[in-house]
Amino acid sequence: MGFFKKRKKRQYITITPKKERSLPPTYVQPNVPDDMWQKCPKCQKIIYQKDLGQEKICPSCHYCFRLTAMERLALLVDLDKFTHWDEDLAIQNPLDFPQYEEKVRQTQEKTGLHEAVVTGQGYLGEYPVVIGVMDSRFIMGSMGRVVGEKITRAFERATEAGLPVVLFTASGGARMQEGIFSLMQMAKISFALQRHHEAGLLYISVLTDPTTGGVTASFGMDGDIILAEPEAMIGFAGRRVIEQTIKQKLPDEFQRAEFLLEKGFVDKVVPRRELPLLLAKLIALHQPYLSKEKKEETND
Ligand SMILES: [Zn+2]
Repeated sequence: MGFFKKRKKRQYITITPKKERSLPPTYVQPNVPDDMWQKCPKCQKIIYQKDLGQEKICPSCHYCFRLTAMERLALLVDLDKFTHWDEDLAIQNPLDFPQYEEKVRQTQEKTGLHEAVVTGQGYLGEYPVVIGVMDSRFIMGSMGRVVGEKITRAFERATEAGLPVVLFTASGGARMQEGIFSLMQMAKISFALQRHHEAGLLYISVLTDPTTGGVTASFGMDGDIILAEPEAMIGFAGRRVIEQTIKQKLPDEFQRAEFLLEKGFVDKVVPRRELPLLLAKLIALHQPYLSKEKKEETND
């Protein structure tokens, strides 16, 4: 009977793990840079980095990838004529938050930025403008004391010189590591902004993806003209927090630029390629009303 037959001894073959196998001497590891290809979060297509162009727009669905502060500036102004302001403000740790200074130092090295906002003076078209651009790579573009101080000073200098201000927001809100000091920046900036406004000067805020928390609640929504980029996420509190609080399901497009435009929070949603020209036009249109001194000069 086959059942009682002696079983054959199993034969095991030893397989060398893939990693340990030695490669043939002619094999050369291909050198593919990590950032050569990007996956579009909207249409899920894999895109060759160069096809995104300087504006970083998906060629198949027109999704706007996030820009760094310097990439944004390069699209707007001649960088050779741009003067950076307050790059030497010292970063402090007012709450002695563990490892905060180290985190800032590491982020500075990684991004090549001093803080989460770049401010300075440049030219839009032929007119001088004070520009601020936030960078969401720097601790989520959060607003701490240095960010607050840089934006406040930008408004103060603009008021003094009679210049308009254009601010690009991209932020997760207040910087947790600086606690209450971070929240105070909202009031401080709003005050400088009000003085700029009382001087009859123009302030345009451009809300980019993502703009949330204290930044939306202060200078983000304080613009004389509020522009936004297509499909940018703009809000105050997170979606889940609101849903849990009001015990209602929110619509899918909630906190998107187009939804805010519909509800009257935003004046215009502008495609990224049209932004530089539109901003230059708006600045040119508001020139005669820019400063009292200039008005007097022209009257004389
Ligand atoms: Zn796409």
